[in-house]
Amino acid sequence: LAERLEDAWKKLRGQDKISKSNIQDALKEVRRALLEADVNLQVVKNFIAEVEKEANGAEVISGVNPGQQFIKIVYDELVKVMGESNVPLAQADKAPTIILMAGLQGTGKTTATAKLALYLQKQQQTCLMVATDVYRPAAINQLLTLGKQINVPVFEMGTDANPVEIARQGIEKAKELGVDTVLIDTAGRLQIDQDMMAELAQIKETVQPHDTLLVVDAMTGQEAANLTRTFHEQIGITGAILTKLDGDSRGGAALSVRQVSGQPIKFVGVGEKVEALEPFYPDRLASRILNMGDILTLVEKAQEEIDLADMENMQSKILEAKFDFNDFLKQMRLLKNMGSLGGVLKLIPGMNKISGADLQKGETQLKRTEAMINSMTKEEKSNPELLAQSPSRRRRVAKGSGFEETDVSKLIKDFTRMRSLMQQMGKGMPAMPGMGGMP
Ligand code: GDP
Ligand code: MG
Repeated sequence: LAERLEDAWKKLRGQDKISKSNIQDALKEVRRALLEADVNLQVVKNFIAEVEKEANGAEVISGVNPGQQFIKIVYDELVKVMGESNVPLAQADKAPTIILMAGLQGTGKTTATAKLALYLQKQQQTCLMVATDVYRPAAINQLLTLGKQINVPVFEMGTDANPVEIARQGIEKAKELGVDTVLIDTAGRLQIDQDMMAELAQIKETVQPHDTLLVVDAMTGQEAANLTRTFHEQIGITGAILTKLDGDSRGGAALSVRQVSGQPIKFVGVGEKVEALEPFYPDRLASRILNMGDILTLVEKAQEEIDLADMENMQSKILEAKFDFNDFLKQMRLLKNMGSLGGVLKLIPGMNKISGADLQKGETQLKRTEAMINSMTKEEKSNPELLAQSPSRRRRVAKGSGFEETDVSKLIKDFTRMRSLMQQMGKGMPAMPGMGGMP
């Protein structure tokens, strides 16, 4: 039964392996999606070339086309590339753990510093935040205000002190206080400039942080790749925080950052509030970047439904007359996924004499049938007898699906008849329940 279906589908499509030519359209779609999500062009090119190489020759599962399957492969690869699971903050063997924040101005460094402090505090860790942004008086006040809000001490020396010296004394203070973690907020510029880089490098050299986190605004777009390259080459980062993911951005910067630096995204910022910080989940961001949820769902469903074990299971259900409406729905979806009903039926021995008009009727009937089954309760789906016995149940299903009670009665009668017919025919039965029984 299962094998016959597989063959039929392959013949119908004539393409059961992923090849360069049968995924051209999907390739274009994926490229466009990644660019729209602001993944850097070069990163997109490299990534797609890799995936294409890997996907070439992969078997296509039944129920989807090679393009759709390719998109699923892209998605899986995206998840993999961005890191299989979320990576925690570094932890020093001997307290305090030192975390250095880096990034351009306005990306959310100061906010992220407070967010991390709150996050750690919730894990019963004590923190100290250090204010080294002496270039804007407001910056120190901002950190002080946030510190008050979350009840975390802030070390600052005003705007006249040297940032490297503030950082050094900040660590001393942290040791004195005996806190678990010290977070160093730093200044940023609107653009990368040598003074800023030199100062940051000096701070890093002085405090020897366990984690150096690049804070990247998700709206940065194409520039995220260059930005990451510069910071990573000149400072050396060990991770990143992607901020402002609550906005419109699809978050493609994450892929750029990851590909360019090889370092993990550790957290994402999802709002202005101090609580708005989440660990990074690669799978969530991958589907946001790709923005092709429908296709992914379709492929996953097909993968589930064409499970061979499942098919065999269905066959034994048929033989024992345990085939119910759930199985029936599955079979119908399978048909739909495979494309036109007529094309499939024609490949099945004994079914090739069906006329076009009959087929049309068959497709319409399938839609009507599906609507009625969808109005059944879980119980009724798995136990068709309930409906056979209860007129009030049939009336409810009819009302729910917009049909007459007589339609529902006919469905039940046909279904029951079909089921016993299938049982009698046993293994010789083509995999199209209902088609003969309900034209
Ligand atoms: P810094 O210059 O890098 O220190 O950036 P700030 O921490 O001062 O943040 C700049 C602006 O971005 C502020 O208005 C923040 O409220 C805002 N901001 C920071 N993180 C997020 C976020 O995850 N989502 C949103 N919507 N706004 C954020
Ligand atoms: Mg700041």
